[in-house]
Amino acid sequence: MNIEKTGVKKNKDLYKLAAGHIDAAAEKLLNFRRHLHANPELSEEEAETKNYIIANIAGKEYIKLSEFEDTFGFWIDVIFKDDGYASGAAVLRADMDALPVIEETGLDFRSKTTAKMHACGHDVHMTALYGALCAVIDNYDAFKNSINLSALRFVFQAAEEKSPGGASVLVKHGVMRNVKMAFGLHVMPNLPSGRAALMEGPVMAAVDEFELELSGRGGHGAKPDEADDLILQASEIISGAQKIISRKTSPFIPAVISFCTFHAGSARNILPARANLSGTIRSLDPMTRESLKIKLEHTIKSSCAEFGTEYNLKLINGYPVTVNDKKAVEIFFPACENVLGTGNVLSEADRSMGSEDFSYYAQQAPSAFVFFGCGEKDPALSYPLHHPRFNVKDADIINAAKTFAALCAEFCG
Ligand SMILES: [Zn+2]
Repeated sequence: MNIEKTGVKKNKDLYKLAAGHIDAAAEKLLNFRRHLHANPELSEEEAETKNYIIANIAGKEYIKLSEFEDTFGFWIDVIFKDDGYASGAAVLRADMDALPVIEETGLDFRSKTTAKMHACGHDVHMTALYGALCAVIDNYDAFKNSINLSALRFVFQAAEEKSPGGASVLVKHGVMRNVKMAFGLHVMPNLPSGRAALMEGPVMAAVDEFELELSGRGGHGAKPDEADDLILQASEIISGAQKIISRKTSPFIPAVISFCTFHAGSARNILPARANLSGTIRSLDPMTRESLKIKLEHTIKSSCAEFGTEYNLKLINGYPVTVNDKKAVEIFFPACENVLGTGNVLSEADRSMGSEDFSYYAQQAPSAFVFFGCGEKDPALSYPLHHPRFNVKDADIINAAKTFAALCAEFCG
């Protein structure tokens, strides 16, 4: 293989430049992350997070900021060609929001705000993206000389944790206009540090939520024949929903229905006239997604016909399935391997039944989303995402920044 012709050498040279910048700036990057971690903001409240990031980006004539009134999400274009985006752009995206969790890490830089915590690693994602952005700015001329794109678009997106999410707002504002490909990264404690997983096809689930109210005749607990037993009925519906998964969905198709709340009753001797339940439905393909909703309503409807009761079902559509494109994976994969080493990036691993509004970018252009390991060798010893003790080690944060920087270099040659 002619190395010069494939551009591999150039990618690696540029990557080395960018990685060198990140190593030299490691302390600055880690302080950047610690500031974000100590000052978390919930979804749709990320004003200070936005200000802090923008204040730390050096102003250059080739940098363009796009910001909006209806979201704290924004993007920064690093423009390489003055061709009106004719050569296209690539999106690299990080999410910005924290969670309503009371932090228990005991870290020096733990959250300063009670019941707000970066427990999903979005502080790490922002730092990784910021690190890559600084590395590109620092080596702007070298990138400009060999990049095949009009611009690299660094997207800081608000409100990932709260449906309908900040991604669709940015899409509405044109974040995917002239974009050839989009890329994202999520730290994953169920993969050990130094490893990543990047697969083609569906990688994160579609999510739909439901709220169910059952109503009937309340009555005396001693006289079930003169009332409706909504607690018994609701229990049967919950069991029936699991039959949809185990008996009416192919064993080869991942699907989840979880009832997560169940409220009924007020006293030990009253059969209640109302029961309220809610839950979540997860799937990895559009047909299963629709069919689970239809079958759940069918189960509820037939149960009400049997018990002689009424129901009100509210279905709330959430994020669609996140699908990784083959070509985008082929670009991201060597970037991850450059940082983590050959053999440390898995092309087959468990998909996640969690969901991500990165899916909205992936609907607009070929995209790839990598699961970036940050856990212990024994996964049982890692705290999961959203846990009050979840944390990411410094070395993983630096590697995540290098991975985004290596990805930028993949567009050069
Ligand atoms: Zn997250």
